[in-house]
Amino acid sequence: MPKETKQYCYDCKKEIKIEGKDIKNGVLLEYEDKDEKIKILKCNECFEKNPALTNFRECEVYSRIVGYIRPVKQWHIGKRQEFKDRKEYKIKVDANNKLNK
Ligand SMILES: [Zn+2]
Repeated sequence: MPKETKQYCYDCKKEIKIEGKDIKNGVLLEYEDKDEKIKILKCNECFEKNPALTNFRECEVYSRIVGYIRPVKQWHIGKRQEFKDRKEYKIKVDANNKLNK
């Protein structure tokens, strides 16, 4: 890691202070994904909250459209807006799968 480049927390984007090999206020996390090596820094506060690496790959969301399950990203712009406007709700059922009224 070059000395002069500023490093930032992966989660909160706060600056991580590094002097030589010494990370003053954070943790270096190293991951291997097939041949790819991923190095990220987290500040101490974010590391305490969640030590795992999250949100590092875009999540492909599938949903039903005109009878097919397709990635929302590939939908027509109008249909994508309609997807945003959709409301999810949970149906309450009891242990016997009967509707609670
Ligand atoms: Zn942070």
